[in-house]
Amino acid sequence: MGERGDSDTICTDCTSRTHRTHRTHRTHRTHRTDRGAVTRRRFLEHLGVIGGSSLVMTAMSSWELMAGQAGVRPSLTGRPAKADVIVLGAGISGLVVAYELNKLGYDFRILEARDRVGGMSWTVRRGTEHTEINGEHQVCTFDDGLYINVGPWRIPYTHTGILGYCKELGVSMQMFVNEADASYFYYEGAGPFANTRVRLREVKADLIGRTNELLVKAIDKRQLDLPLTAEDTQRFVSYLAGQGYLDASDRTYKAFEARGPGNPYALADLLRSGFGSRMRSIAASDGTAAAPMFHPVGGMDQIPKAFERALGARRITFNAEVRSVHQGDSGIEVSYVDTKTGKSIRTTADYVVACLPLSVLAGVDINLSPEMMAAVRSTPYSDSAKMGLAMKRRFWEEDDQIFGGHLYSNLPLGEFSYPSDGYFSHKGVLLGLYAHNGIVGNEPVKARVEHVLTHASKVHPQIRQEFESAYGVWWKRVKYSQGGFATGAAAARREQLSRVDNRIVIGCAATAPTSEPDWQEGAVSAGWQAVTSLHNRAMRTL
Ligand SMILES: Cc1cc2nc3c(=O)[nH]c(=O)nc-3n(C[C@H](O)[C@H](O)[C@H](O)COP(=O)(O)OP(=O)(O)OC[C@H]3O[C@@H](n4cnc5c(N)ncnc54)[C@H](O)[C@@H]3O)c2cc1C
Repeated sequence: MGERGDSDTICTDCTSRTHRTHRTHRTHRTHRTDRGAVTRRRFLEHLGVIGGSSLVMTAMSSWELMAGQAGVRPSLTGRPAKADVIVLGAGISGLVVAYELNKLGYDFRILEARDRVGGMSWTVRRGTEHTEINGEHQVCTFDDGLYINVGPWRIPYTHTGILGYCKELGVSMQMFVNEADASYFYYEGAGPFANTRVRLREVKADLIGRTNELLVKAIDKRQLDLPLTAEDTQRFVSYLAGQGYLDASDRTYKAFEARGPGNPYALADLLRSGFGSRMRSIAASDGTAAAPMFHPVGGMDQIPKAFERALGARRITFNAEVRSVHQGDSGIEVSYVDTKTGKSIRTTADYVVACLPLSVLAGVDINLSPEMMAAVRSTPYSDSAKMGLAMKRRFWEEDDQIFGGHLYSNLPLGEFSYPSDGYFSHKGVLLGLYAHNGIVGNEPVKARVEHVLTHASKVHPQIRQEFESAYGVWWKRVKYSQGGFATGAAAARREQLSRVDNRIVIGCAATAPTSEPDWQEGAVSAGWQAVTSLHNRAMRTL
């Protein structure tokens, strides 16, 4: 457990990410055993030195080390005679742990510091508020019915762990549009298309059309040595011509109506633009490019709320900020403060499953073994941020025919995205910024909004006029989170974190044995691992 990715070498042929894929891909076996090859881990460590965690995250994302399935839900049997469990934290991992313990018949309760379930699975809507650590207070003033998912916002279809719970708990799901042909490229700086909006559909059509034209012409002139019979070569040509919409008579690529007005761009310009790096066929794994993706109707928080309903209100104590956890030979004592009354409360149990982010757990008075505490303290967290922008008018739909998907740009906004719901209604919430490098986090909130509007208006000049209000979440500045998701998949650390520490098991997404902490699937995978370890530990003491 926890060693995924470390023994793998980077396959430059397909940049496939998972062991499963490598095992089923014959050519990759040889890549894995190449002597002296750069391991993914070594490569990521080098990247970390050069470019910090954001570069590592980018590399991990592009290899999709960061996505994957939680595997098969554990099928556990038996019930220990005495097993009173306290679960710390009601994020997805804590809720999964509680849900599975409930099925096994354990006596358990959750202590949750916030007044709601979900942790990072947080949907901001009218009336939502928070105060940043040593910072400003924000209150959301979006119209009723509008919202922004400031943590998780999309789920690949391959994340069968979390989607399985959605089905089981009756959470209504809808499609998340991760790519819209009408969306724009906008690269600021130099180059053939600098500071110009170019539609994704034009780039796609022209790159494919121009490439296919070259190939077909080369085949016609017998310049390619193809491992095909004459008949298959003709079939190949027909395929290339059809796919690239080549003219039947002269095999030339010409613009066509659905591509949009104007002549095709020159291949050399397209290549120099760098747009091609966004063009892929089928996503090699299940990362952010996998289609389809889903999101719950009404906001991501519908998932934790469904768990809450299934568990029943009496199982969760809200506003319970855990301050200390002391384990001994015969039991474990947990102290927390009721943040509403300020009262300190002590309680005991046989076991604790800690589903707090490690960034928070590191500051709790807890007597873990020195090795475990070292692993907790050495886990870095991303400096992720999101900002939702409520707009008076859905100008991206009305003026630009963009329905969902993203803007592809090098603007300092990270990802800028259009909502995948509420189409053809009046107002909507744009994701104005989604980044992992703490960008503008040190500025006052007003300046952060100004930053986003200034850059976004280069692509959408209407944005200032249509802007109504904003709500931003910089996760490092959020109490009870102190960061986005655990980064750096150090195998030894994960292996340590997966161990049972006498009476304590760690179950937050950072310990995920499969999938990765930047997905709820990682939280599910971690929860399953924690329940399995705890159950095995409790059954041994029978
Ligand atoms: C910006 C961003 C975007 C993301 N996008 C996606 C996405 O698109 N799709 C996807 O599937 N995943 C996504 N993720 C990842 C996903 O959010 C996480 O993997 C998952 O939510 C982590 O769940 P968790 O239970 O481990 O932690 P958390 O959600 O952090 O839960 C921990 C819980 O512990 C509680 N707590 C903290 N301190 C205390 C204390 N002292 N006492 C008691 N309780 C305490 C917290 O209040 C919280 O409820 C994203 C994450 C971020 C940050």
